[in-house]
Amino acid sequence: MSPENPSQPAGPRHVDAHAHILEEPEFAATMIHHCESLGIGAFFLGGYDPGDWDRQLRLREKFGNRIQMSFGLHPWFVHNASGEECREAFQKLESRLTTRADHTGMMPSAIGETGLDHALATDKQDRERQLDWFRRHLRLAGKLGMPVVLHVVKAHGACLRELHAHPGTTGLVHAFRGEKNLIVEYARLGMLLSIGPNGIAGMSRENLAAIPDRILVIESDAPTGAIGARERGSSKVKPAHVTPAVIIEVAEKVALARGKGETVGAILDLSRENLSRVFQIAIPG
Ligand SMILES: [Zn+2]
Repeated sequence: MSPENPSQPAGPRHVDAHAHILEEPEFAATMIHHCESLGIGAFFLGGYDPGDWDRQLRLREKFGNRIQMSFGLHPWFVHNASGEECREAFQKLESRLTTRADHTGMMPSAIGETGLDHALATDKQDRERQLDWFRRHLRLAGKLGMPVVLHVVKAHGACLRELHAHPGTTGLVHAFRGEKNLIVEYARLGMLLSIGPNGIAGMSRENLAAIPDRILVIESDAPTGAIGARERGSSKVKPAHVTPAVIIEVAEKVALARGKGETVGAILDLSRENLSRVFQIAIPG
């Protein structure tokens, strides 16, 4: 780190707390190299389904521990898949996590995405189904002592009830957007709150500033919209609208909201420390 300009790290040490890199490794290389030129050197991925875990493994093989994997059944996958498909996919998840059964022997650092999406599941039956699979992920995480990556939309009350019912759960709530009372509740549980472009767009400065240092992390949620296109049954995934580079802008806006004169580098260092502590990994850079 240069003493003249402490906000500019010498190497790529910034971390994206939540992204989806949907390209195959050959194509992802260009994006990752661009991010490195901006000081972003590590990426925590969200998991969607078994095919997605395989893509994460290919990225990990090519880019090493700059890629932090997360395997789970996304609430959107659960919503769209049959019971049989969910059972089969969850069995794969359990066997990969407990026996390290895949050919690479590489392990994800978290279980997820899992959670509750009440914007998607509007009727009682669908919500109960989401809840059932969410609980299975929480039990598995508890059994293996792994953190979880949570996707929670219009369902924070129900999510908090489950976290209280599964004491000891650690991890992060990705794309968090919420009021002070929720921030206090998650902080009590030590859950990281991950702020991305939608948090910046949807939260007041007061609420952003109310997130305690020890639970604040910064994400891109890249590429916004791509998974949505797949979920709606489109045969093609939409081109990326956002890349992990957006974390610089998100951190800038968080620093502004906090009003303490912090640099972008200071906010991203806080995020890095929190991720490293809760996910119990040494992040490169
Ligand atoms: Zn995600």
